[in-house]
Amino acid sequence: MPSVWDGPSSDLFTPLPFRGNVALSQVAGMGISAGMAAALEHAPSGACVCWGIPFEVGKVAAIQHEPLSVDLHPTVAQWLVFMHTSDRRQVASTPDGFISPMRGEGQLGEHAADYIILYQDGTRHRISIRRRYQLGAYQRRWGENCFEAVAHRKPRPQRAAHEQLAPNWGNTLTRVNAADGGPWVNWLWAWQNPHPEKAIVGIRLEPVSGIVILSAIAAGRASDQPLRWRTRRKACLTLPEGETFRPDLDERGLLQQIQLDLGQIISALPRLRYPHDGWPETYNNQRPEQIDTEMLIEYAAHPDASFHLANGQTIPVAQVEGAQSSPLLQPVHPATRRVTLRAIERHSGQCVPVKLHVHAEWGEYLAPVDRHRILNPAWFEDYSVDFCHGGTWYGDAHNPHYCTYISGMTTLDLPLGSVYVEVSKGFEIRPVRRVIEVTESTDEIVVELEKVLPWREKGWVTADTHVHFLSPMTALLEGSAEGVNVVNLLASQWGELMTNVGDFDGQTTWGAREAGGSGEYLVRVGTENREHVLGHISLLGYSGRIIAPMTTGGPDESAIGDPIEILLTEWARQCKKQGGLVVLPHFPQPRAEHAASIVSEAVDALEMTAWGNLYDGIDPYSLSDWYRYLNCGYLVAAVGGTDKMSANTAVGTARTYAHLAPDEPFTYGAWMDAVRRAETFVTYGPLLDVTVDGHPMGSRIEMSASGGTVDVTWQVASATVPMSRVELVVNGEIRESVAVSPEAGSGHWPVKVNKSSWLALLVRGHYADKPEIIAAHSSPVMVLVEGSPMLAAADAVTILEQIEGTLAYLDSVGTRAEDVAYKRMRLVLTSAHRSLHNRMHQLGHFHAHTPATDHPEHH
Ligand SMILES: [Zn+2]
Ligand SMILES: [Zn+2]
Repeated sequence: MPSVWDGPSSDLFTPLPFRGNVALSQVAGMGISAGMAAALEHAPSGACVCWGIPFEVGKVAAIQHEPLSVDLHPTVAQWLVFMHTSDRRQVASTPDGFISPMRGEGQLGEHAADYIILYQDGTRHRISIRRRYQLGAYQRRWGENCFEAVAHRKPRPQRAAHEQLAPNWGNTLTRVNAADGGPWVNWLWAWQNPHPEKAIVGIRLEPVSGIVILSAIAAGRASDQPLRWRTRRKACLTLPEGETFRPDLDERGLLQQIQLDLGQIISALPRLRYPHDGWPETYNNQRPEQIDTEMLIEYAAHPDASFHLANGQTIPVAQVEGAQSSPLLQPVHPATRRVTLRAIERHSGQCVPVKLHVHAEWGEYLAPVDRHRILNPAWFEDYSVDFCHGGTWYGDAHNPHYCTYISGMTTLDLPLGSVYVEVSKGFEIRPVRRVIEVTESTDEIVVELEKVLPWREKGWVTADTHVHFLSPMTALLEGSAEGVNVVNLLASQWGELMTNVGDFDGQTTWGAREAGGSGEYLVRVGTENREHVLGHISLLGYSGRIIAPMTTGGPDESAIGDPIEILLTEWARQCKKQGGLVVLPHFPQPRAEHAASIVSEAVDALEMTAWGNLYDGIDPYSLSDWYRYLNCGYLVAAVGGTDKMSANTAVGTARTYAHLAPDEPFTYGAWMDAVRRAETFVTYGPLLDVTVDGHPMGSRIEMSASGGTVDVTWQVASATVPMSRVELVVNGEIRESVAVSPEAGSGHWPVKVNKSSWLALLVRGHYADKPEIIAAHSSPVMVLVEGSPMLAAADAVTILEQIEGTLAYLDSVGTRAEDVAYKRMRLVLTSAHRSLHNRMHQLGHFHAHTPATDHPEHH
């Protein structure tokens, strides 16, 4: 039988040992139920601490038919806390199978026993012990708790699954455990002694109905009901010299650095320091600093509780909250003022969805009342409406900036004093950071947003091509709050895990007018189909049946034993047949078959992917791979997506801008057409527009054999990431480069073209404290000069080699499908290889032949 210890012990209470009539192990022989007998091994015994109160369980007092008197060491006490329990009561049914009178299985109000307090002066005090008041059963039916007693193990926080050694995913997301006892519950009931001046010398226990087992009593003093904690508070702990914040738990699952006796520490994290001076001038999404020597704790406690530090020092809660607070533990203003916050678009006066962050003086995050207070950024653990920029305090990631998405109006509990608010809504609206003074009379906070860049008005719409796990409605809220007009939510398979498959119906566009939405923000469910070596391919917006299997070839993308039964190129063709758009996600990884898919002209766009990283920009590694195909005349658009799989990534961190055809209303279909035309650019913030001789991105311009000069006209602007340079890329090389102001720029270049070329615009920029990045990149315009083929031999060779490697994988270690499928897939790859190979030979480029073109024997 275990000793229970649910936290440090308060010195306001002491055990009041007594010698009962029976050892716990012998209770089984008293005619108790089989269930109670089976649970008996879990009954607390020995020295215990429950709810911060110490008990000593020895021989227990078990009464069923006969009264029993136990002697107590003469004790003067304001409170006695009884640790007792009883058996479950049989519920008798009527012949019809109903229960009458219906008092529930807990037998609400049933008189179970009398406890008679015996005072030294010979007087007595009789207490009636009733079920579901002072006493419960060793196990309760769910929802039948005691009204005046609590289960013996106090409430405690629990770690999210990824933070635990023994994960229990779904349940850990609540981050709390209620008071419980496991298979055996003793009930703690605190009795306030009406004669605290008189010594108690014994208790007579008189059974009335059923067995009652009194395990232990504690005596003590407390200014109020010792089993009732007050509402949450916060405080900041300065750690002892040389110590830094550690999330480590002790062997009992409590935080090592600080604990509470009559209460519980809810959460602890290193204190975050924001730039409060000049907050309005700091930039959107900027992460705070982390102070590892200070710890912000949140707790709920009895007013007489004490904090216990790792070095043995105790600090009363009353001192922390009092006039002279402890220098070690300083109180944080409680968030008690309920306030409505509205985000208003200035020109329309309408409430609009936005991303929101609020914190107060101590850097403490203040979530709306219906949003997470502790964010979970782990993969697939939580699909909440939040953005956690950076990691949590747990593990090796630090100084997170917490945000949430709201529909335009929300309710928060705020402390009095300065509150720091951040509101944003995409790249065309200027993000706002404001300081607000909350007073006793603050009921409402209004934050106005101003649209400063008219790209939408000029026919551009934004998209994230790659989001996972969210529900369609959550994706719609996050998209509209990030100013992303189109969110592509991708169902997929991950080993044995299928995600968003129930959200795929091959027809619905959430948010569209025909689906009851405004038509301005849309969500469409597609699929990301994947093979771990061959590559991934995103199939967007297609109609009809889901294109499955969504993964092949075994782990880590599909299940063990799945054969490679279909190629990316074939998935892509099927998607086009079903009216969809084909994107190569997180280009160029995994780097294999998409060479064949692009050469086969089965791909509409390549995705520059952000994940959770706001500051690395467009990866030159991705661009270099894309440029090879452009150099060989394959005009594939660039799009931006996030591959969001957790709260760590914000929808639209990198996004696609696509230009709708003139006078075409915005629909999902119109967006797909714009990407197919390659009238797109990718951006982390700066917006651009570029034409070549008046032709938009994605155009092909024919020129006579003598070539000529084209006029490249461009315009850039940014309301977020400050810009530094604008550059012209021609055939993969920087041809022009000019410095621009952080917010806007425009210009034009005459560019001499004497051979077939592609031209694209590139924008560099960065925040003052971050390195320069490629912040935006356009899709190209291709100028085709008569007699000058667009085929760079060196690049073509690398593309052919990539197709040859793909064939080698299919032929060797790739899990083999049945023969017909295998031969069909080989044919797809060899014909892609042949088409580029033949183009090279026609143009007189020769290169060493490889087995892929030698038609080897296959069984
Ligand atoms: Zn992928
Ligand atoms: Zn993905």
